[in-house]
Amino acid sequence: MRLAGKIALVTGATRGIGWATARLFAREGAHVLLNAKPGSELLEARLQELRSLGARADAMEMDVGSPDDVKRCYTAIAKEYKRLDVLVNNAGKLEDNLLGMVTSQSIGSVFRTNVDGVILNMQYAARLMARNRSGSIVNIGSIIGRYGNAGQVVYGGSKAAVIGMSLSAAKELAASNIRVNVVAPGFIDTRMVQQLPPDKYEERVRSIKMGRIGTPEDVAKAVLFLASDDADYITGQVLGVDGGMLI
Ligand code: NDP
Repeated sequence: MRLAGKIALVTGATRGIGWATARLFAREGAHVLLNAKPGSELLEARLQELRSLGARADAMEMDVGSPDDVKRCYTAIAKEYKRLDVLVNNAGKLEDNLLGMVTSQSIGSVFRTNVDGVILNMQYAARLMARNRSGSIVNIGSIIGRYGNAGQVVYGGSKAAVIGMSLSAAKELAASNIRVNVVAPGFIDTRMVQQLPPDKYEERVRSIKMGRIGTPEDVAKAVLFLASDDADYITGQVLGVDGGMLI
């Protein structure tokens, strides 16, 4: 029960890595605040699933890139729970395009979720965490944000930004005992990669030294470590979870 008594907000938590993280957090005793975009059809079923495990779980509907939504949610968290111990900025958007085909609309929409969303959530979470002089923020980056990939200038840029933002926030917030770290997944079996053409999918799997695609649970275990007190002297780090993938 490594998160017993902790209030943990996971963004984009209804599927993929976010859902695996929420489920693991619930098993480890956290009171999970499960985020999805307003109107999500999966949210209620996911909440019931966590509650059926005996966990405490509540819904937090927000579009992470909307300043109004984020403000509304954190006002509700402050009122209802009076604290926040863990934030996982997991919600993410992928749009692939070669440089010549990139549009400003696509830059705007990817950066709104992957960059604005992370900054806004860190900003409000840090205010709440500072009240207790304690907290852990885990931002989900990507192997692409560290090493790049053809066709992913926009996504890679947004994920490189996650690293820069996290390292800077780690320095700002360390004095308040708030830790900020990044988990950088490689190729993980979620909806995000299931849309790839079969030849690209196989090519990516072949580039993984451990010979298999990652599971959302592989990533969730790393997030749990950084979120928990087991990592209470670790901040400003980027932890790759990629099975030795080369990109
Ligand atoms: P999924 O597409 O399975 O899940 C993404 C989740 O984010 C969905 O629940 C989605 O909601 C939610 N989301 C998207 N935009 C918003 C928003 N504006 N506000 C709130 N929620 C939002 O992808 P993964 O689980 O694979 O991705 C999780 C994270 O991991 C992302 O940040 C991604 O970039 C990163 N990552 C994934 C890798 C992989 O190989 N899968 C590799 C490296 C990094 P909805 O379903 O309603 O759209």
